[in-house]
Amino acid sequence: MPCLPSIQATDKRLKNYKIAIMPGDGIGPEIMQEAVKVLKLVEERNDVTFELMHALFGACAYFEKGEAFPQETKDICDQADAIVKGPIGLSHEESKKIPVDEQPERGALLPMRRRYNTYANYRPVFLPKGLAHFSPLKPQVIGEGIDIIMVRELVGGLYFGEKEVGVNEQGLRYVKETLEYDEAQIRQIMHHAFKLSSGRKKVLHNIHKSNVLKSSVLWNEIMEEVAVEYPDVKVINILVDAVATLLCLKPTQFDVMVMENMFGDILSDQGGGILGSLGLMPSACLGDDKAYYEPSHGSAPDIAGQNIANPYSMIGSIAMMLEYSFGMVDEAANVWAAMQEVFTDGYSTADLSKLDSSVTMISTNEFGDKVVGKLRAMPIV
Ligand code: NAD
Repeated sequence: MPCLPSIQATDKRLKNYKIAIMPGDGIGPEIMQEAVKVLKLVEERNDVTFELMHALFGACAYFEKGEAFPQETKDICDQADAIVKGPIGLSHEESKKIPVDEQPERGALLPMRRRYNTYANYRPVFLPKGLAHFSPLKPQVIGEGIDIIMVRELVGGLYFGEKEVGVNEQGLRYVKETLEYDEAQIRQIMHHAFKLSSGRKKVLHNIHKSNVLKSSVLWNEIMEEVAVEYPDVKVINILVDAVATLLCLKPTQFDVMVMENMFGDILSDQGGGILGSLGLMPSACLGDDKAYYEPSHGSAPDIAGQNIANPYSMIGSIAMMLEYSFGMVDEAANVWAAMQEVFTDGYSTADLSKLDSSVTMISTNEFGDKVVGKLRAMPIV
């Protein structure tokens, strides 16, 4: 994975980092265990110490503490230099055991995003040419490889707007949810996207729905205003529905893509689909003062507890933390390279190997161990 420009590096003289570790639900603890193995090796290889502070978050926290984001978890996160979060959530049926407002996204995830104003969500969608066999797309569609970063606005829009439920004058149950953005919110995510694009291919796809949504009209106005400050970046405006198709037909045309909250939620899962698995989707959620790192996917209850989940997304989230929160750009690149080497040696977890007999299927633990082995063998720059 090519390095992203480091925009969030903290003071490099600070070498002792406090990291909140929140394994979460479902496959969370399994993939977090492998990510922590990698983190411990990074600590061993570098002039840093990591103080890992474990905390409950999500459904596990609700069942043990009565709240999905308990005060003691908030205290740990407040103290942390960075937060690493596993996926949270339960299956559709199981989630009915939790009151609606304490269900993991509403009770923990959105409040955490709001608490730390982590408005910029970077979701890399990366598949080199040599791993085209992982993708459901034809090798000629993958071409020289897919290398996209989706930049998703993470604390605005429909997910954070006012909500109202009730019974209307006709006696019918109704719901009203509000999609709201102000220009400052749009401007700050645009600056992230333009800066990222400036350090890459200088082509920025702006995803919108201005033919229907007024919010997209304002979004595009602000985009044009911010674009003036980045004359080297070419902007391509494109409707979100068209993007859904083009991601399948010609994903290689995209480099950096910027979009509002809900569009990003949906299109980034499609990103996982074109790679071959959501297990290949790490992410960074960046605010001006705090950042947290999590896989883009959910807790995968269908495969939890079987030691078959792909920990790439969780280990990749660690690599993003090393780069963005700690400025450890070279070691982050080593972690990405270690994972790619495991794949190119012909190994992968079940999600990526079941359709391809040339790939040797390994467990979650074995994948983590192989990454550790590869990283250990890499020179420290
Ligand atoms: P999901 O992302 O958990 O799973 C979708 C599919 O992808 C499943 O088949 C799953 O097995 C597979 N998958 C996901 N991650 C994988 C990995 N690392 N390795 C291999 N396969 C993987 O989506 P879902 O089933 O719709 O949601 C399950 C729960 O997760 C729900 O409660 C949902 O609300 C929650 N969720 C949480 C987050 C988050 O924590 N940020 C994000 C999305 C969904």
